[in-house]
Amino acid sequence: MADTLHALSVAIVGGGVGGLTAAITLRQQGHNITVIEQKQQYLDSNGGGGLSISFNAIRCLLRLGIDEELKQIADEATEWLVQRHSDGVEKSRTKVEKWRIFVHRTDLLRVLHRRAAQLGVQFMFGQSFQSLQEVEHGVKVQISNGEIVDADVLLGADGINSKVRPAIPGNRDIPPELTGHRTFLVDVPKQKMDQHPDTAELYSLPAFQSWIGGQRAIIGWTMRGRESYHFQMNDHRVGNGEYRGTNDGSTERFVSRVADMPAFRESWKDYEPTVRQMLDAVESCTEWKIAELPEHVAWSDASGRVILIGDAAHAFAPFAGQGACMALEDATVLSAMISRMKPPYDWPAVAQAYARMRQPRIHLIRENIRAIIAICCQPADDVPGPGSAPTMPHLLKDEFEVVQNYDAFEEALKVWDTLRLNGERN
Ligand SMILES: Cc1cc2nc3c(=O)[nH]c(=O)nc-3n(C[C@H](O)[C@H](O)[C@H](O)COP(=O)(O)OP(=O)(O)OC[C@H]3O[C@@H](n4cnc5c(N)ncnc54)[C@H](O)[C@@H]3O)c2cc1C
Repeated sequence: MADTLHALSVAIVGGGVGGLTAAITLRQQGHNITVIEQKQQYLDSNGGGGLSISFNAIRCLLRLGIDEELKQIADEATEWLVQRHSDGVEKSRTKVEKWRIFVHRTDLLRVLHRRAAQLGVQFMFGQSFQSLQEVEHGVKVQISNGEIVDADVLLGADGINSKVRPAIPGNRDIPPELTGHRTFLVDVPKQKMDQHPDTAELYSLPAFQSWIGGQRAIIGWTMRGRESYHFQMNDHRVGNGEYRGTNDGSTERFVSRVADMPAFRESWKDYEPTVRQMLDAVESCTEWKIAELPEHVAWSDASGRVILIGDAAHAFAPFAGQGACMALEDATVLSAMISRMKPPYDWPAVAQAYARMRQPRIHLIRENIRAIIAICCQPADDVPGPGSAPTMPHLLKDEFEVVQNYDAFEEALKVWDTLRLNGERN
């Protein structure tokens, strides 16, 4: 841990991927960190726990000192297979290396939590953020048990329905908007997949599988040491494939169990037999109404002492598998910039530099998501194969060049040093 003459007190609301990463990286610098998390503990959710983490974000994870633990919980793919939805005809097969790992969200949160606790991060579980009050040299954070947490700076890492976000002037009337797109998450245990030769075959290759067509797409991968298979089924038919849907007002809860499984299976009956067999093998699945935030959210207040990271700042649709990855990058960038600061801390400068660096990158991811939706919404029999553009592998190339090769930590230091915001390096 670095020697820090002036250890900061940092309160972090939300112990998700973004909040825990910020907690670890700032604690590694010697700061005093308190994480306020509304959940009591990290438990398996009811199905649909798959998280795909791309190499830009793996770089961030590898800075946390969890290399061995990460290996224990991660599956990898060596190929990306794209198939036509209606008959499973292979459209492309791309070798991938240093691309993505596939983890169960709860496993990742537990690894991050263990590491943070080991470093001495303080946790207040079962407590939710109530309000904040800015004082001359800091922030007073009121939590649900009535306690006040004093901090030099507060990070709002409390997800898409953030309560910290509306406490920043200008964000009061910016709720998440429903896009009209839906995602269904299915985790199938290996023994169920083994019951049919077609579904069993999905295990024969360490491949990331996708089926595209009919204004929908499915992606699938193995998880937990190839013990279960995770399917993410994206349905772009609602809203006629429009990226923007309307806000039906029910933005507090986006996730529910599919009530009518036979009707759900029926709505995917134009997909090839392997998909239908997989759907026959499961009794339930989870539906997410996909919501996102507009781009004009303010990421910090004027004092720079209240800063948003992750979904709290920029929730977007999950079709590029980048939401958690961007939360990891946000935390890494902000911590890298803070590591360069010297007292007296110029919080407005760091908050501005962080937002100015991160916002164009988030915009780029949103553009990628639009391109992915456009591919999925092409007429059913005209899903492009290799050679025609754009295709998923074309996007994969972009991913490598623009997304995967990105080192958030190094980029942040470059930006900070270029701005010379705080004099010479520490
Ligand atoms: C269907 C679906 C599939 C996805 N798949 C992927 C994927 O494969 N790869 C990927 O990178 N991203 C994926 N994402 C996106 C990813 O889940 C999010 O972007 C990511 O979880 C954001 O992390 P976060 O830490 O910002 O917020 P969250 O993960 O939402 O964490 C917020 C934390 O804050 C806590 N909290 C909330 N309110 C309060 C409060 N008032 N007080 C205290 N604590 C509070 C919550 O309990 C939670 O622990 C997917 C999203 C969806 C919907």
